Amino acid sequence: MKGGKLIVFSAPSGSGKTTIVRHLLAQKHLNLEFSISATSRAPRGDEKDGTDYYFISLEQFKKHMKAGDFLEWEEVYRDNFYGTLKTEVERIWAMGKNVIFDIDVVGGLRIKRKFPEETLAVFVRPPSVEELKIRLKKRKTESEEKINMRIAKASVEMATAPQFDFIIENDILENALEEAEHLVAQHIANEISAEEE
Ligand code: 5GP
Repeated sequence: MKGGKLIVFSAPSGSGKTTIVRHLLAQKHLNLEFSISATSRAPRGDEKDGTDYYFISLEQFKKHMKAGDFLEWEEVYRDNFYGTLKTEVERIWAMGKNVIFDIDVVGGLRIKRKFPEETLAVFVRPPSVEELKIRLKKRKTESEEKINMRIAKASVEMATAPQFDFIIENDILENALEEAEHLVAQHIANEISAEEE
């Protein structure tokens, strides 16, 4: 597999990384395309199949696992599998675009290890675990039990932050957006010229 750049944004659920990723996708000069993950979880809110995720059954997910179709996959929460299909990255690279991922910390670091040169791995840190809880509750898309599951995982995820290329603090959203845009633009510019040599 060969092509454009890979930009990974990982963070605990509720840290605001999806907002950052959406902002970056709207910056046309960055030439980014979102990597649509496959998941066995049910759609939430107004999520659409083939836009937010490829929503597939657990059975289909396991078939893809066995066939070696995934670049990486994780059981992010019990019985909720998420994974990046190899065909997804190929599809985006074939368009001549850079890939942006909104994936969990383990998956993010796995992509970085597989493609160390091409990948920029950014960790988005929420101000605190307490703040995360407030944000998840405000979102009103998950049950109390699911929120607690996400909070319990957040502390473990926070500990992986130093393994990323950069950490963005997301307490003031505008600053986080600006910093993210700057980092991505720099990564794309540097690596394109390095690769062409
Ligand atoms: P959510 O259920 O809130 O959409 O996602 C839960 C977590 O799974 C988030 O941290 C999200 O970034 C992560 N995730 C989404 N897609 C993938 C994927 O393809 N691989 C991995 N490893 N994690 C993913």
